Formats: sequence, structure tokens, C-alpha cells
Amino acid sequence: MNSKYPVLEVFDSVQGEGLHAGLGATFIRLAGCNLRCTWCDTAYSVAGDGGESLSVEELLARQAFAQPMVIITGGEPTLHDLGPLVQALHARGKYVCLETNGTNPVPEEWGIDWITVSPKPQSGYAVRCRANELKYVVDEGFSLAVVDFDKAPGHIILQVESCRPASVAKAYALVMENPQHKLRLGVQLHKLIGVE
Ligand code: SF4
Repeated sequence: MNSKYPVLEVFDSVQGEGLHAGLGATFIRLAGCNLRCTWCDTAYSVAGDGGESLSVEELLARQAFAQPMVIITGGEPTLHDLGPLVQALHARGKYVCLETNGTNPVPEEWGIDWITVSPKPQSGYAVRCRANELKYVVDEGFSLAVVDFDKAPGHIILQVESCRPASVAKAYALVMENPQHKLRLGVQLHKLIGVE
């Protein structure tokens, strides 16, 4: 395994978003992103030249990896060949999740166990990979017209922005007014309880 990854941070915390919210996990944040979202809350991860270049072995030595779940995030982690990293994590018995903006395919051979796609307006809400859950950040102007329900997975999360009242009201209304889609209102649990 000679692959190197631009690693910004490795840390343990609870997953704050999506269906796995509340579960303990180890996060691996990789540098580089192909989008430039104006509200990006990890702007430090967008530049492609950020992070420390680590081999799989060096990366795995950085943390105890005691949690059963590992979440690879960014930035946009699909800019990197994740196969060797996922393989090494599977060898340690980990359940491997990916968080992506959906603009790139996710090769089946990488073996990712769970894919969270958070489509962005900057890419026209493109979804070019398999998704286990779709997570949309909802502002006042958000419309369900951007969701392709024919191709969508069973889990669609409307995530409110930092519990802003207008965002909460919009997401709440969309959930309650569209029961046929079984939408789920999501919060950023980690921000509510004040952890990383
Ligand atoms: S896709 Fe994600 S990491 Fe990239 S700029 Fe947008 S919010 Fe930031």
C-alpha cells in the first residue's frame, strides 16, 4: 500500500448528522475539494495543498481507532483513491462511511459500507454516485424540486442550518407537508452538544 493521503485531522467524536447521528466514530478529514460553497464550515479543508501527506500505516498510527465506525470526510474525499485506506480499515474490523458532495463516482471496488451524499447548489445538486442517504442543507429558498425521488435512496434528510429559525421552519414544513416522501428533519447534533 503506497498510497499517500493529505490528512488534515483525525479525531474521535459522535457522528452529528444523518442516520448515524449519536454513534461514536473516528473521523478522517482529507484536504482538497472541487467545489467552493460560500457557507462551507470546513473552509480550511478546501485547498488541495493542505494537510499532512501520510501513508495508510502512518495514518492508522495517529489514532487508537477504538470506535467501530470510521467516517472519511473532507473537503471532498473522492478526489483521492480511497481503496487502500478502506481495505486497511476493514482489516481492523471497521465500518467505513464516506461523506461526499456527490459530484464524483464512488468506485464499487473501494468497498465503502455507507455513503452519505450532501448535494450542493454549486454543482446543480448533482448526484453521480450511489448513496445510502441524501442530506440537503435547507435554507429559506430550498425546494424539493432538486431531489430526484425516482433515483433517491430511502433516507432523505433535510438538515437545518445551525438551528436557524427560518431554516428550521422550512425543513419542518417540508417534512410535514410531504409525508409521501418520508423525509427526515436533521440537526447538527455535535454543534448542539458542543463537541467537535
Ligand atoms: S463541498 Fe463541502 S467541503 Fe467542499 S466547499 Fe462545499 S461545503 Fe466545503
